[in-house]
Amino acid sequence: MRIGHGYDVHRLQEGRALILGGVPIPFSLGLLGHSDADVLTHAIMDSLLGALALGDIGAHFPDTDEAYRGADSIRLLEHVVRLIAQKGYRISNIDATVIAQQPKLGPHIPAMRSRLAQACCVQPDQISVKATTEEHLGFTGALEGISAHAVCLLEPSDASGDSAAF
Ligand code: MG
Repeated sequence: MRIGHGYDVHRLQEGRALILGGVPIPFSLGLLGHSDADVLTHAIMDSLLGALALGDIGAHFPDTDEAYRGADSIRLLEHVVRLIAQKGYRISNIDATVIAQQPKLGPHIPAMRSRLAQACCVQPDQISVKATTEEHLGFTGALEGISAHAVCLLEPSDASGDSAAF
C-alpha cells in the first residue's frame, strides 16, 4: 500500500466563484487561481500523486499553460485517477480537511463527498471531507484565503485476492 499527503492554499477574492470538491458554494468571496481554484480537489490530487511519487499538480497541470485557465479541477482529478490506475493502484480511502472561517461548509459536505467519489471511481464512504475554522487566527481566520489538507491510501488494483482463489 502507498500513502500520500497533499496541501494547498488559495486566496479569497471578490468576483470569483467558490468551488470546493467540485461543488459551487454560495458566498460573497471566491478563490483566486489559474484554474477554478478548487483548493480541496487540488490537495486531494497532490495526495494521490504523492502516494505514487508522481510529482505534484504544478508539474502535471502548469499554471503557465492556457489549456488549464479556468479548468474544472474535477476533470483534472479524473486524469490523476486514470494515472493511478495505469500504475496498477486504486484508491482505498481519502481523508481531507478544509480550513475556512466562512462560509459554513457542513451543509455542502455530502455533495462534495459524492462528487469527489464519482471522480475517483469509489463509494462516498471512501471519501471523508471535514471542515474546520482556525478560530479567527491567521490568513484563514482573516478571510484572506482557504487551505486544505488531504491524505490518501492506495492499494494495488489486484489486492482483493478473489480472482486469485483458483
Ligand atoms: Mg491550487
